[in-house]
Amino acid sequence: MKYKGYVEKSQQGSAIAQHFSKVSDNVAEVDVAPNTSDYRNGKKVIAITQKKGSAFSRCASQSDKYICCNVYVLPSVSNCPYDCSYCFLQNYLTDTTTSVVADTAALLADVKKRAAEEPWRFFRFGTWELGDSLALEPETHASAELVVAVQSMKNCLLELKTKSAHVDSLLGLDHGRRVVIAWSLNPQAVITAEELKTAPLQARLEAIKKVADDGYLVAIHFDPMILHEDWEAGYEQLIEQLFQMVSPKQVAWISIGSLRFNPEMKKSMEHNFPKSRMTSAEMVLGDDGKMRYIKPLRTAMYKHLYQLIRHHGGNEPYVYLCMERWDMWKKVFGASPESAEHLDFLMTESLYRRFPGLVHQAPDRESYESSKV
Ligand code: SF4
Repeated sequence: MKYKGYVEKSQQGSAIAQHFSKVSDNVAEVDVAPNTSDYRNGKKVIAITQKKGSAFSRCASQSDKYICCNVYVLPSVSNCPYDCSYCFLQNYLTDTTTSVVADTAALLADVKKRAAEEPWRFFRFGTWELGDSLALEPETHASAELVVAVQSMKNCLLELKTKSAHVDSLLGLDHGRRVVIAWSLNPQAVITAEELKTAPLQARLEAIKKVADDGYLVAIHFDPMILHEDWEAGYEQLIEQLFQMVSPKQVAWISIGSLRFNPEMKKSMEHNFPKSRMTSAEMVLGDDGKMRYIKPLRTAMYKHLYQLIRHHGGNEPYVYLCMERWDMWKKVFGASPESAEHLDFLMTESLYRRFPGLVHQAPDRESYESSKV
């Protein structure tokens, strides 16, 4: 990709800035990286920046109307070189310059401070809130730096989520299984039509195999599931391909969710992606102000996928729904956690049981449920 690069002077000595300058041929040193206001133009600019403000917080999608998983986010990247038609960033970012925070120690200081406040809790956190964790890895090696640094944080687990196949910088690192590499997956027909510039499915599957062979835990997000022609067969083939590449024993968790977007974003999607069919399906407005497929359709999609996961992947990987209510959980799984705190406990308990030595102490349900985060 052709891009214009900036490195903020304060970050010039960082390993990330040095790697970026080495592999890029169009980099300027600046006091502060320039803002870009146009969504697409922002994807052509990469800035290596310092951390601004407090970094560590709960996932912004968290809502007490839904059962959420209590994951934390560390927004070390902002904007993304890929171009998914359903990406919420097209209607969210005011400064669209693609940026990567280079002072990893300062970022992780925020995580350590929060983790020390509840040393009994096991914190899952990810860097994907405002971008893709690995899309810029060849240019920055920023995630490789995080993988190494997170090793000493015994009540934390880093999740790197991507639609790329950029994993080479992570191989051979001392990750101690404290890092989960996660992929957002869809059938190739959806990738071709709606996830522009991302890695093809086969490349993502080969990358999954590479990190699994290197001992990393893997997570899979079937989110957003997208309605498309022959979607049942498309997802069936996808699940078969996935479990030919990775053993379910190495899959830490699997999430399922469906397409959702704010009504205001519909216009941006139609303007930015005139060929997309994304906004033509029948949808309803949820309590969180987001459009979703109508409930019978979501139920059918989730049930189909869940049955395939259990058929091909067995009972081990923890499977959960993202941003759905209790009643949907019961329709799909036959049971539901009582709250986000309960789901957080169940996910931690699954990790504790399945991966000895990963979770620092046996999780206590009462502690999780009595401490609203
Ligand atoms: S990969 Fe994620 S962040 Fe990047 S364009 Fe697609 S949805 Fe947006």
